[in-house]
Amino acid sequence: MERKYKRVMLKLSGEAMANKNGFGIDPEVVSRLAREIKEVCEKNIQVCIVVGGGNIWRGLKGSQGGMDRVSADYMGMLATVINAVALQDSLEKLGVTTRVQTSIEMMQVAEPYIRRRAIRHLEKSRVVIFAGGTGNPYFTTDTTAALRSAEVEVDVMLMAKKQVNGVYDSDPKINPDAKFFTHLTYGEVLQKELAVMDNTAIALCMNNNIPIVVFNIDKPGNIVKACLGENLGTIIEGK
Ligand code: UDP
Repeated sequence: MERKYKRVMLKLSGEAMANKNGFGIDPEVVSRLAREIKEVCEKNIQVCIVVGGGNIWRGLKGSQGGMDRVSADYMGMLATVINAVALQDSLEKLGVTTRVQTSIEMMQVAEPYIRRRAIRHLEKSRVVIFAGGTGNPYFTTDTTAALRSAEVEVDVMLMAKKQVNGVYDSDPKINPDAKFFTHLTYGEVLQKELAVMDNTAIALCMNNNIPIVVFNIDKPGNIVKACLGENLGTIIEGK
């Protein structure tokens, strides 16, 4: 199939790297992701990735347990760096050149986020993994993906989800009659309060005309299909 996109953002939640209980990092799972990402690179598509941290720590949960929210969020941001380094390792073992860029400086571990440098890496076909979220508490890695998507000017933001095929009007894991959407506008997602991602992320994509594709990552081959622009999951675009 002809390539539809030149540059893509892949948003991987922390859970995408976890074992079947949703915790920690499963090397087998990460390795499968890396193999698919390698395949995408071989199709001459530039790939950048934002990784979440929910498999290790979530700030909100920590703060609900009595912790200071800002400290808890910084822990979440650090968790994303752990995931990013794991994914980098897996990709490099397969011979894919990568760079991790962090929003919070930690020079011994990774490069700091520098937009122009990130774009240069992409132009040179290096996979760029953005870690550390936005670097600010009270945000999510979905918003980070939207922000970096706008900054490095990707053609599409691909939201990889576990256990669901895309966006529904209610949780399909709870409601077997949940209605599946193949196409939605940003406005509909906001109005219907669909739990795809937080409103900040949706608004950023809406204001910058970044199409979003929500797809199921459990099915092998879906990352490649999504990156090639095959009809998959739910597409969110338009007013
Ligand atoms: N986080 C943050 N600011 C950001 C991005 C993330 O404070 O810009 C923290 C927040 O505590 C969040 C955690 O990092 O709970 C992990 O990120 P997220 O929940 O988005 O990960 P995912 O659900 O994608 O695994």
